[in-house]
Amino acid sequence: MSKAHRGKGIRDQFAYGRGECPVCKRNNVKILYEQEAGGVKFKICKTCRAAIKNGTKSLPQAEEAKTEETAAS
Ligand SMILES: [Zn+2]
Repeated sequence: MSKAHRGKGIRDQFAYGRGECPVCKRNNVKILYEQEAGGVKFKICKTCRAAIKNGTKSLPQAEEAKTEETAAS
């Protein structure tokens, strides 16, 4: 098995897995990690995946969902 997030493993992905990360808004970073929030899957970068795991960052969609909940109640 090839390394899933480097080299040959990401060749088949669009632009070698690069694009804009929806969390940190940086462009041309490798967005190789899928994170699910509210039924929507996000492709995020390595740094943000770690940050979300730590709880220092959250997905934009997850934040919106929270605000909607608060507004409704
Ligand atoms: Zn990011």
